[in-house]
Amino acid sequence: MKNNEIIDKKPITDGLIDYEKIYEKFSWETLKKELNINDGRVNIAYDAVDKHAQTWRKNKVALYWEGADGTCQKYTFLELKSLTNKCANMLQKLGVKKGDRVFLFLPRLPELFISMVAIAKLGAIAGPMFSAFGPDAVRDRLQNSEARVLITTPELKERVDTVLWELPKLEHIILVNDDKREGAEEEGNVYYHTLIKDSSDTFETEWMKLEDPLYILYTSGTTGKPKGVTHVHNDMISHYITTKWALDLRDDDIYWCTADPGWVTGTVYGLWGPWLCGISLYVYDGRFDAAKWYESIQNHKITVWYTAPTALRMLMKAGDEVIEKYDLSSLRYICSVGEPLNPEVIRWGSKGYGLPIHDNWWQTETGSIMIANYPCLPIKPGSMGKPFPGIKAAIIDGKGFELPAGQHGLLALKPGWPSMLRTIWGDEKRFKEYFNVNGWYATGDTAYKDEDGYFWFVGRADDVINTSGHRVGPFEVESALLEHRAVAESGVIGKPDAERGEIIKAFVVLREGYKPSKELEEELKIFIRHHLAAHAYPKEIEFCTNLPKTRSGKIMRRLLKAKDLGLPTGDLSTLED
Ligand code: AMP
Repeated sequence: MKNNEIIDKKPITDGLIDYEKIYEKFSWETLKKELNINDGRVNIAYDAVDKHAQTWRKNKVALYWEGADGTCQKYTFLELKSLTNKCANMLQKLGVKKGDRVFLFLPRLPELFISMVAIAKLGAIAGPMFSAFGPDAVRDRLQNSEARVLITTPELKERVDTVLWELPKLEHIILVNDDKREGAEEEGNVYYHTLIKDSSDTFETEWMKLEDPLYILYTSGTTGKPKGVTHVHNDMISHYITTKWALDLRDDDIYWCTADPGWVTGTVYGLWGPWLCGISLYVYDGRFDAAKWYESIQNHKITVWYTAPTALRMLMKAGDEVIEKYDLSSLRYICSVGEPLNPEVIRWGSKGYGLPIHDNWWQTETGSIMIANYPCLPIKPGSMGKPFPGIKAAIIDGKGFELPAGQHGLLALKPGWPSMLRTIWGDEKRFKEYFNVNGWYATGDTAYKDEDGYFWFVGRADDVINTSGHRVGPFEVESALLEHRAVAESGVIGKPDAERGEIIKAFVVLREGYKPSKELEEELKIFIRHHLAAHAYPKEIEFCTNLPKTRSGKIMRRLLKAKDLGLPTGDLSTLED
């Protein structure tokens, strides 16, 4: 429950200096005017890249990129302008036009960042996908969005090949080829680097309306397939100001966001937000490794670092001796997002890094940070902080009435901030459901607010699983398990885990003729890794003879979870038998 500990900080002299005063007088309309935004003549790509290429920032490094093998590359804003123009021309030559969906299934290569900007320049809609996805996850997204073009690598394309026959709307696959690969230029394939060579580096950016779509990111709910959360160019207003005030980014920063652009943090704060503010980004296209991460901070003199609780817990586990081997004195501000940040980790960070960690809260649907710990406010370890200026957050009951401080309830937001989702792609009904509770935007999370206005996360109001900060729908895993010949039924839950927040546990009823075994358990895990996604496989599988169901046949995951954790089972009146 409530933690009375407070971490106070030195006064700041830049950025968001007086939270209460700014919160009181803030208006999105005024900010829009200040940013000189003219509807119908906007394009986020212009503001994030081309604009800087016309100012003193033109030779400033926009992207420091490092590959897993240690290869380093850097790109100035001017170079990015030219490369994104070339990429936009390449896509245009392939017939891509305003409103078309271009999906990206790429590791964190420079081409991923370049393509995202180029797609926006064309007025097309980008669909970034996490490179750990399997064929089923990719198929669902390409099918639902009716994407015309996919940009991927030869290696990742192999995962798409098996589902290509199910994607009639997909016209082109562009391969970001590795020149070193033998026989890379196979016939019948379209190659990024070959096409781009002949492309012009001048391009007429498409002027957009603020409400024109910019990107779609698929996210999981309790039921059904992932939903295409759709965002628009207007989001840039939120991206810009939250990057400045919640991440505290300034012109001389070198900033590292460890999230992959296949997740919303990587798209918004790993690309758009910092570039809108003209900040130098560092990107590392490698796996987690404590020593390597510290080496990156040391060698690239990272000043602001945005990461996630699971990574911080893993760093804490790696121990203080690793920290001592590196010079991390460049760091001045650390933020975290995606899952609850344990007070213990904040205390450890304050000692190990000499800096507190600033938790903040938001979702794919909110499109930008909604609740945060700010440089100018004391941190209450365990709290997500206070609402961002312009954001009205509340704890409500099931009817939409605000609850007093200290009471647990649904975390809700007053609609109307610039980066709020605009629709669920092809599913307006589902979009409207977000606003069913008396006009509030219902987040699906439960929380409470204390007397000082700080918000504290309690849990999810639904069955959605958060494993290492990745949102996974139990239904998707259950459906994928059912594709295996041995599985008759399955029920999937999130089980608390000290390192990953939650792990995925599956209860599986086998078909006639199959017997539980260690081998079958392993086979099912690999099956999910390959079909759905590497992060979505059940770490634990329990074979059982039946699953608790409601009379209408729905699996009662709540009951599975209660039994697994030895908790009270609650109301059983809807149980089948
Ligand atoms: P996603 O849309 O994938 O970014 O997931 C959003 C969900 O992650 C939220 O609804 C929360 O359940 C969880 N989440 C995000 N940030 C935090 C945080 N700071 N503390 C606790 N949970 C968080």
